[in-house]
Amino acid sequence: MTEQQVDVLICGGGSAGLCAAVWLSRCGISYKILERRDGPLAMGQADGVQCRTVEVFESFGMSEDLLREAYHVIELAFWAPDLVNGNGHANGGVGDKAVTSSSSSGIRRTHYAADVEPGISHQPHVILNQARMNALLAQEMERASGTSDILYGYEVKGVEVDSATASDLDAYCCTVTATKADQEHKFRAKYVLGCDGAHSTIRKSLGFKMVGDSTNAVWGVMDVYPQTDFPDIRKKTAISSEAGNLMIIPREGDSLVRFYIEIENAHDVSKLTLEDLHESARRIFRPYNMDIAETAWWSVYAIGQRRADYFHRDHRVFLTGDACHTHSPKAGQGMNVSLQDGYNIGWKLAAVLRGRATDPFGLLATYVSEREKTATELIDFDRSWTKLFSSSYRREHGITPEDFQQQFVKAGRFTAGMATNYHDSAIMSAVTSKQDLAKGLPVGMRFPSAQVVRFCDARVLQLVRALPADSRWHIVVFAGDIRYQSAAERLNSVAIELDRMVKRFTPLGSDYDSIFNILLVLSGKRTEVEQEQIPDTFVPVNGKWKMKCLFKTFVDDESYNSGHGHAYLTYGIDPTRGAIVIVRPDQYIARVGALTDVDGVSQFFDGVLKH
Ligand SMILES: Cc1cc2nc3c(=O)[nH]c(=O)nc-3n(C[C@H](O)[C@H](O)[C@H](O)COP(=O)(O)OP(=O)(O)OC[C@H]3O[C@@H](n4cnc5c(N)ncnc54)[C@H](O)[C@@H]3O)c2cc1C
Repeated sequence: MTEQQVDVLICGGGSAGLCAAVWLSRCGISYKILERRDGPLAMGQADGVQCRTVEVFESFGMSEDLLREAYHVIELAFWAPDLVNGNGHANGGVGDKAVTSSSSSGIRRTHYAADVEPGISHQPHVILNQARMNALLAQEMERASGTSDILYGYEVKGVEVDSATASDLDAYCCTVTATKADQEHKFRAKYVLGCDGAHSTIRKSLGFKMVGDSTNAVWGVMDVYPQTDFPDIRKKTAISSEAGNLMIIPREGDSLVRFYIEIENAHDVSKLTLEDLHESARRIFRPYNMDIAETAWWSVYAIGQRRADYFHRDHRVFLTGDACHTHSPKAGQGMNVSLQDGYNIGWKLAAVLRGRATDPFGLLATYVSEREKTATELIDFDRSWTKLFSSSYRREHGITPEDFQQQFVKAGRFTAGMATNYHDSAIMSAVTSKQDLAKGLPVGMRFPSAQVVRFCDARVLQLVRALPADSRWHIVVFAGDIRYQSAAERLNSVAIELDRMVKRFTPLGSDYDSIFNILLVLSGKRTEVEQEQIPDTFVPVNGKWKMKCLFKTFVDDESYNSGHGHAYLTYGIDPTRGAIVIVRPDQYIARVGALTDVDGVSQFFDGVLKH
């Protein structure tokens, strides 16, 4: 038997585990991933990448590859049973293929809609297979830490926590047992992440249970090369037909398409064959032709809506992803929510292990409160969503195709990943916030982007690009138009007070912006402001050559080629009043305060960061 020691042991190298690992690599934390597969995931599983997940990739500096390779979902098409008697062209149906009978034996298009509510995110909803998503995360881990810390071929058998030493931050109080090629290996760790999917060994070994529905909804999923005359084959399409429900998700590249097919009354899932799925698809698409030239991947996916009864043991072992919540694949949430679990715990573990947290276990407890809330909301959402997709439920409750469309579009904020809203905690303070100063920046929600112009070089940027996921807290100062004397004086006094605070929290010898990333967003005409009017607090002198960093000042102004971003308007900030906004390392808005209230900012950080 071998024995190794590591700060964080991640059990399972799927979406949640890899995303947490990216944070740890970027923060220089020692970790290992144990993965039972012999190598990276090759194909299949989830594919829908919510706007929020694209934003997460952007915060890691990885969104370009994702956006280049992915299918971009712009428009939704809705199809319903064609009940039009003798007139295939009625109600906006495409007509020429519609079947003329009083009962339906065909389908017709009823509606098109925008896939994502306009303005919900500066990033699109895209489709990229989970294997490629995982590969992008693994690539970033290697780039950041210079090595791959994924150990393939390791089967995790269980975890034990020595509760007696769990309150000692330095204790390696978790022991994970794993096997590789019949050889047993022990790993001692300070923290363990159970990222080992729906059948989690870690969860079972802690004695935690999944609670919720006992029944499983069954969906067939297949990635196919279709030969068809169906007109919306390259659009995300929801088809409700008398022969069943099907969802089309076009895949990256020009030819592959995914079908999700509802399988009602599936008594024995193991007996379902690929031919059954092909036949269902053919019937649902009727009267259009649907010949499947090749099937690249398929699976029958049975899932209930359940969550774990506990998410942690002694704040030393944490469950993430499918290990603590399962739900149907229809709303495209599985991979996204799991990845966002990893995104939530990663920076918190890094802060604790770097000794930066005022209350380490309090910080880790926010993972549990925030992600339990998200999991519960997700499961509630998925329950109503699943009913909406079920043919029998719709029949029984008289839900029309039009009702279905409306609810589908209404759920957009949730399916885009933009409904997450965290409550007050040690790292979130709506109660001390002055929300009316920035109505468009709700405390508890992720910081939305807006276009701004960078002051030093007139480059047009999305503001979130200046808030990278590198474990620093962001302080965004909206100081208004400093061409006015009063605004300029106000900015100078804010800068002096912020400087005092920065020096209190930043270790001697460290870069000025190593703990806080302080950004300045002005309004008004940038060409009428000079660099010397920007206080030094926003122009830190850093690095080997002790050069001034000019990349922290932005102006809400007209650009040469991309128009005006209207950031102050989007954020609901009055330039004559301004605001200071605290944004967490994971881009959630923690506090909105008055420009004159740097004391409030400082007090907030007393509860968060060690000085
Ligand atoms: C066959 C299949 C099809 C799916 N299809 C869809 C879909 O079409 N749409 C959708 O939205 N979602 C789908 N999902 C769900 C989606 O993939 C998950 O919600 C998402 O991957 C969850 O991420 P995760 O990191 O929690 O778990 P996973 O991505 O499942 O990762 C868990 C990892 O842990 C490893 N592991 C498990 N047990 C052990 C062990 N004992 N020791 C070591 N390693 C272990 C696994 O090999 C795996 O790599 C599918 C899942 C599966 C399994």
